[in-house]
Amino acid sequence: MSERVGFVGLGAIGTPMARHVAQAFATVVWNRTAVRAEEFARAHGAQAATDLATLVADCAVVITCLPTSREVAEVIAAASGAWRRGHLLIDATSGDPAGSRRNAATLAGHGADFVDAPVSGGTSGAEQGTLTVMLGGSDDAVARARRYVQPYARKVEHVGPVGAGHALKAVNNALLALNIVAAGEGLAALVKLGVPAQRAVDVINASSGRSNVTEHLIPERVITRAWPRTFSAALLDKDLGVALAVLEDAGVTSELYPAVKRFYAEARQALDAGADHVEVVRRIEAAAGVEIR
Ligand code: NDP
Repeated sequence: MSERVGFVGLGAIGTPMARHVAQAFATVVWNRTAVRAEEFARAHGAQAATDLATLVADCAVVITCLPTSREVAEVIAAASGAWRRGHLLIDATSGDPAGSRRNAATLAGHGADFVDAPVSGGTSGAEQGTLTVMLGGSDDAVARARRYVQPYARKVEHVGPVGAGHALKAVNNALLALNIVAAGEGLAALVKLGVPAQRAVDVINASSGRSNVTEHLIPERVITRAWPRTFSAALLDKDLGVALAVLEDAGVTSELYPAVKRFYAEARQALDAGADHVEVVRRIEAAAGVEIR
């Protein structure tokens, strides 16, 4: 095995992350839709693996960026004969803690290490290489993982054992969802009462209710009616499910998380499959009979 890095999952955020990795290390990529991996390899001087077992056999370190921990388990299984002592899987998926503990146990059966390494900062943070990375794993595995996530990161924190990174990421994204719904509903009311949307967010952003949602998402995506599709509502709904399980496992009762999970589950069904996580605001607007513009 060489110091080559394998990257699995060239989706909306995986692609710009992999680009930074390919600038720093000899990189082998694999993607379910193979043409994406071939195009990436041509454009960024990487190699495209024909199958997962070949990628794992070639790369001591493998980074995954897939929808959920279930697809990560499938990828681990698809290369099951290739994992060896000395392999490290860095899972950048926004996964779930229980799934990560299972994936870590499967790899440990082959002598390989697992670190959960979810990211925050969106596709723009990935493009700029300024993501926050939340690492969960043993001290040794995390110390080894750092240099491979560094190319796309600004802040890298070891937050606990395997699964801790995914628990923290789920709570972070639940806060994002809570803020989107709360800002959408509040602004719909203010606009109906005659307060211009931009003036309302300007004041909120100089006040105690401000958040990333009021500072960036509402002005840049809702008021402009730009609605870019960078992170799907379906994935944020998935994260809310993980967050609910995290609170339940910890024995913490919540009023808000289940309500926002229900809202996202319904909105996701009503919107089209590729809808962005911010587009749920359209549902709030439709119900209120107003546009936040
Ligand atoms: P996308 O839906 O854009 O990409 C998903 C990737 O996973 C694609 O490469 C897809 O392959 C691959 N994939 C899907 N199903 C399978 C499968 N069964 N087996 C193998 N590969 C599969 O998602 P994102 O890139 O947006 O998100 C990836 C992860 O990162 C998610 O966990 C998400 O929550 C998280 N995340 C996303 C952010 C964002 O802003 N987009 C921000 C922070 C975290 P194919 O090309 O064949 O479809």
